[in-house]
Amino acid sequence: MGKVAVGAAVVCAAAVCAAAALVVRHRIKSSGKWARTLAILKEFEEKCGTPISKLKQVADAMTVEMHAGLASEGGSKLKMIISYVDNLPTGDEKGLFYALDLGGTNFRVLRVQLGGKESRVVKQEFEEVSIPPHLMTGSSDVGQDVVGELTKAMERVGLDMRVAALVNDTIGTLAGGRYNNPDVVAAVILGTGTNAAYVERAHAIPKWHGLLPKSGDMVINMEWGNFRSSHLPLTEYDQELDADSLNPGEQIFEKMISGMYLGEIVRRVLYKMAEEAEFFGDTVPPKLKIPFILRTPHMSAMHHDTSPDLKVVATKLKDILEISNTSLKMRKVIVELCDIVATRGARLSAAGIVGILKKLGRDIVKDGEKLKSVVALDGGLYEHYTKFRTCMENTLTELLGDEVSDNIVIEHSNDGSGIGATLLAACHSQYIEVEES
Ligand code: ADP
Ligand code: MG
Repeated sequence: MGKVAVGAAVVCAAAVCAAAALVVRHRIKSSGKWARTLAILKEFEEKCGTPISKLKQVADAMTVEMHAGLASEGGSKLKMIISYVDNLPTGDEKGLFYALDLGGTNFRVLRVQLGGKESRVVKQEFEEVSIPPHLMTGSSDVGQDVVGELTKAMERVGLDMRVAALVNDTIGTLAGGRYNNPDVVAAVILGTGTNAAYVERAHAIPKWHGLLPKSGDMVINMEWGNFRSSHLPLTEYDQELDADSLNPGEQIFEKMISGMYLGEIVRRVLYKMAEEAEFFGDTVPPKLKIPFILRTPHMSAMHHDTSPDLKVVATKLKDILEISNTSLKMRKVIVELCDIVATRGARLSAAGIVGILKKLGRDIVKDGEKLKSVVALDGGLYEHYTKFRTCMENTLTELLGDEVSDNIVIEHSNDGSGIGATLLAACHSQYIEVEES
């Protein structure tokens, strides 16, 4: 009996020992995984680094590419498209105008009654619908004249209307911004995609061989989303995102800063953590494998989560990725990851803007002369992603210094592109008629 009891006790003790050993091993193993998670995060953060010295190089590279794109067609990754818009609104425009704004995510129709200098925008109505996802990625039928197709479609439904102008949203924003403020020199869109346009002196466009416009100005559509430079802090995740995209090798700047991609970059890093560090447990959550499932508005909501237990992060993970039971420290890693991706995008956007200001000679105070420059900003990312916007604006000040920054104003040109399009239709309709005849 005694022996059995002793024997049993020994067995018991051995079992407890084994269990204890298992717990310890498990802790060592999971702390190894946690260390791996942190290592992935740290490495990513380092590769995304945007110290001021680097941003200055990016800004300089932007200025250099602008010169190259203006010098000759195909001279740069920046197309620097001559828009033929050589007059911007003055405020005198009058009449009833519609604008159709086809964005990356939404389709908007605007109806604007312009009343001239005194009454300005008399009335403005607005409708918006989401673009169905299957149309967003469908193939495009190239070589068709958009204005011709739209005119035919309007005739088919019996609309007595004439298309007066076809403008891109960035130029629309520039025009809308200028209407409100004559000091507007450039416009930047940060939405699903990104682009910039600015007012160039016509004689500073070597590839322009036509007559110089009376105004002496020409609006340039930069198509800056296609900018790329060896100074851009590209990571393996950006390279993989690009390789898997519909347009590999193109729109590299856009893929680092715009709303279409920021959430997807976060997903890719999380996927790596899940796979290599078992961040979400011993299997990779199936939803996390789906490209573009984590949208930038979700990322933004997680990034702005101020609740002590980060419950917005928990809810988003559950609702979008079907991941539950995340610990607070895991959620903190995710917020940190969002911060790294948004900060890089915001700081690079600021560097791009400085590149434009440099090209215009407005990045310095000349002979004590205080030249005021206004940049019109629009787009859902700029409008709704507060931390992105704040970081971009702070970086601009950091890059330009206090004295110059005093003269640079970032203005939110709300729906500037739609109103701007109607304004351009108004101030260029005569010009367009001459073109058509
Ligand atoms: P578009 O003209 O291309 O349709 P918008 O200028 O309306 O786009 O911007 C829409 C984009 O803005 C979305 O695709 C998204 O990336 C971004 N966005 C919208 N809402 C938010 C938000 N709350 N936080 C962060 N980004 C947002
Ligand atoms: Mg848009």
